Order: sequence, then structure tokens, then C-alpha cells
Amino acid sequence: MVAERIDGKAHAARIRAAVAENVDRLRSEHGVTPGLAVVLVGEDPASQVYVRSKGKMTVEAGMQSFEHKLDAGVREAELLDLVARLNADAAVHGILVQLPLPDHMDAAKVIRAIDPAKDVDGFHISNVGLLGTGQKAMVPCTPLGCLLMLRETLGDLSGLEAVVIGRSNIVGKPMAHLLLGESCTVTVAHSRTRDLPGVVRRADIVVAAVGRREMIKGDWIKPGATVIDVGINRIEAEGGKTRLVGDVDFDGCAEVAGAITPVPGGVGPMTIACLLANTLTACCRSHGLPEPEGLGV
Ligand code: NAP
Repeated sequence: MVAERIDGKAHAARIRAAVAENVDRLRSEHGVTPGLAVVLVGEDPASQVYVRSKGKMTVEAGMQSFEHKLDAGVREAELLDLVARLNADAAVHGILVQLPLPDHMDAAKVIRAIDPAKDVDGFHISNVGLLGTGQKAMVPCTPLGCLLMLRETLGDLSGLEAVVIGRSNIVGKPMAHLLLGESCTVTVAHSRTRDLPGVVRRADIVVAAVGRREMIKGDWIKPGATVIDVGINRIEAEGGKTRLVGDVDFDGCAEVAGAITPVPGGVGPMTIACLLANTLTACCRSHGLPEPEGLGV
């Protein structure tokens, strides 16, 4: 392996520690404690695990955690009522409605109901528009985590060629806007892109958010490039178990890249750390206090 391994767990631990330090200071100097409300509808096992670990890490960072669990069959109007109550609750600075929602609900409508200032997922159309026009926004956690790791690894990103593979609203598109904001030259590739290996070979920075196991191969990578693997793909392993792999063929790409994130232990841990950072940022903004340094854009 030639590439430096970008340790997402270590980056995430540093961010969580910085959040905790800022939370402490907010409490002692201003008597304010940031609060994050997470709403889970139904019993999707993966969502339950995410919500539990979000709650645990929120408390560990010294913030208040509010968990709201609703039955899968709850009416959309009841969920909208809950969101309205959380919007009005001064102790709640961040609201996250865990996706996916049951089929009878309109997720876009529910997200639109969240106060944009408390939209710590960064999915509200106001935040999408603010990010897209280079203004101060709440930024989606996964691409924010990728950006913070890229800054730590490379320093100034200005002028670098970046290729983002994937154009989803939650990862690919906001990632592209963030990289543009850093003055990268950005290409967004997707399933209709012609000669994807050729496009990727131009990149100093590759961000893969596709959802196809180990699709990006070592001979697609420009020597020395930095590779960020967002993909989470569960595959069969020995003994009837499963294991996680990314969208990048790690072993092949690590022979060529300058730096690369593993899966697991790369982007994944950064997502929750950035959710905590966004909650802190939302709290500071709502109280007109300076935002924490190094935890946002
Ligand atoms: P998504 O909404 O399914 O989008 C996938 C994107 O990949 C689409 O834009 C699609 O293109 C493109 N694509 C599919 N096949 C392709 C191919 N053969 N060549 C080039 N592009 C192709 O997925 P997502 O929500 O962005 O998530 C992507 C991956 O990241 C998933 O594995 C997901 O589990 C993971 N993820 C991880 C985290 C984390 O915290 N680590 C967070 C979110 C997501 P079209 O638009 O043309 O269809």
C-alpha cells in the first residue's frame, strides 16, 4: 500500500472532542446547552441503530438529546404537528427526521416543515439553495465530513481537479457545491457518464458516492490522488456473516492513490460527528454567538 490511510474514526473523535469543548464553554459562559431532537417513525432496524448511536453521542458531547419515536402507522399530520412543536421549542436547536419515512408519508413535505435554521441534516430547500448560491447554510453531514477530511489531508484545495461520482441530493450534489466553494474544478459523474475511468483519471480528488461495491478500480486513479469513499455496501462474508465494503476497490486504489479512506472507518464516523457539529453551529447562530472554528464551512 502506497497511500496514506485517512483515519475517519480519528478525525471524527477530534471533531466530537472539539464540539464537547465548545458545548462546555457555551454552558459556562452563556448558560446555553445545544439540543438535538431526532424523530424516528417506524421500526426499521438500521434506522433504530443510527438513532440510538446519535442519541448516545449527543449526550457524550454534553448536549441535550430528545428522541421521539412514532408508530409506523402514524398519520403524516401528527408528524407535522410534532415538527411544529420542535420548531417552537427553544431547547431544541437541531431537528433530524430519520429517513426513510413510511410510504404513506411525503418526505419532501416533512422536510419542508422543519425550520431551516434547525435543519441540521441540511436537506431543507432553503439550505440547498443557500449552499448552491455560496451562502451560509446548514450543510448535509456526510459531504461536510468528506470536506473536513479533505482539508485536513490536503490543506488548500484551490485549483484542484475534483470528480464526484454520484449526483444524489444528499451526497453527490452538495459535495460538488462544497468543492466548488473551495475553488476546485468540479466534475459530477453519474450513471450516464461516458468513459467514467477516463474522467476519474483526471482527478486530484475523487469522491465516490455510488452504492456499487468496489466499482472504482486502481487503474482509474491518477497517481497521488486523494480518494474519499462514501459507499456503504453490505456483502456476504465467511461463516454466513456480512461485512461492509465501499464503492472503491481499496487494495487496488491504495497502490496508486496518495491518500484514501477505508470502509468501514472512513466517511461513516464523520457523518454523526458532523451532525453534532451542525447542532452546535445552529445553536450558536440562534443565539447570535460566534460559530465554532473548523467545524463547518
Ligand atoms: P443514490 O441516491 O442511490 O445515488 C447514487 C448515484 O450513483 C446516482 O447519482 C447514480 O447515477 C450514480 N451511479 C449509479 N450507478 C453508477 C455507475 N455505474 N456509474 C456511475 N454512477 C453511477 O445514493 P446516495 O444516497 O448518494 O449514496 C451513495 C452511497 O453512499 C451508498 O452506498 C450509500 O449507502 C452511501 N452513503 C453513505 C453515507 C455515510 O455516512 N458514509 C451517507 C449517505 C450515503 P444516476 O443519478 O444517473 O442514477
